[in-house]
Amino acid sequence: MMEKIEVDQYAIWLGPVATSLAKVLESYPTSRLFILTDDHTHTCCLPLIESSLKHRDYHVCQIRPGEPFKVITTAIGIWQDMTSAGLDRHSIVINLGGGVIGDMGGFCAATYKRGIKFIQVPTTLLSQVDASIGGKLGIDFDGYKNHIGVFQSPLAVLIDPVFLDTLSDRELRSGYAEVIKHSLIADGGHWPELSHIHDLRNADWYTIIRRSLEVKRKIVIADPYEKGIRKVLNFGHTLGHAIESHFLQSGMPLLHGEAIAAGMIYEARLSVRFAGLTTEHLINISNYIESLFGSPPKVALADLLPVLRQDKKNKGDQISFSLLEDIGKSKWDVLLNEGEIQW
Ligand code: NAD
Repeated sequence: MMEKIEVDQYAIWLGPVATSLAKVLESYPTSRLFILTDDHTHTCCLPLIESSLKHRDYHVCQIRPGEPFKVITTAIGIWQDMTSAGLDRHSIVINLGGGVIGDMGGFCAATYKRGIKFIQVPTTLLSQVDASIGGKLGIDFDGYKNHIGVFQSPLAVLIDPVFLDTLSDRELRSGYAEVIKHSLIADGGHWPELSHIHDLRNADWYTIIRRSLEVKRKIVIADPYEKGIRKVLNFGHTLGHAIESHFLQSGMPLLHGEAIAAGMIYEARLSVRFAGLTTEHLINISNYIESLFGSPPKVALADLLPVLRQDKKNKGDQISFSLLEDIGKSKWDVLLNEGEIQW
């Protein structure tokens, strides 16, 4: 099955990647293809797209995997490789990997020679339902997540659940945190079904991805530059990002979704006090997230404040949260003083 889902200026193709990539490339005459992979996607994912690259002139750039490499030194290496591979304004970059490859490869493409075209081929669950959609690109800087970046739409996003077959159970679960978030913020109808899924390995990913990415798709179309409603996607992320940065700096990195799972539990607690979420729903949400991720890590507000104070959504001295009014209903720009943030 192949579905073509329109976003604004581009389309998401959901189905076999060899077919979607061949179709997209057919419509764009290009001088050179540049494929960005990391060590894992080079082994696990590149073979799945090679059949669509036959008779094409392409160069593969391979970087080391994971968040610690989503930094300016790696980006410099990618720009150097783009230069020595002779990329021009008609070349196309294919970002084959998870959110790190998509964010950083997209950022490098969007800035190289003032911007060349790129295709997102997300290969983790997290990047398929979230990171690849919505045009946010960037790198971490000085320990701050996504501190340097731009907005730019890709040529296309090609999603194929087959990539999940080689993903580790821990990475699969990490991505599932964003699926949970999408249901909680805007698709309460999906919650009864989702909250009964415990065997992630055998879940019906095509259907789950289709429904989850629909939440993100609708929101980014309504508010591409995060002036209003797009901020609801930050539910769980204000504290989650700070938790992620804190553990990264202390040398015990959590996966993005693991930090977001903790952030969602803590922000669901704030939602009871500041957005009207019922205690019954809080318990329901916390129990389900903990059944998959375990108890959230204990962390003190003082450890998170340096990062919380840098949050791009803040207004003056107040920290801005997106919180739940109900399961499937959220509000944004809930401004809290530091003294009010307790979980
Ligand atoms: P990731 O890109 O680091 O991938 C996780 C790991 O899985 C890596 O080791 C990778 O090599 C490996 N991998 C990827 N695909 C694989 C496959 N099919 N089989 C086997 N191994 C595979 O991390 P992620 O969780 O995909 O993304 C996290 C990043 O996404 C963070 O940097 C976060 O800030 C970013 N993000 C961006 C947005 C956005 O809107 N731009 C939204 C959410 C998250």
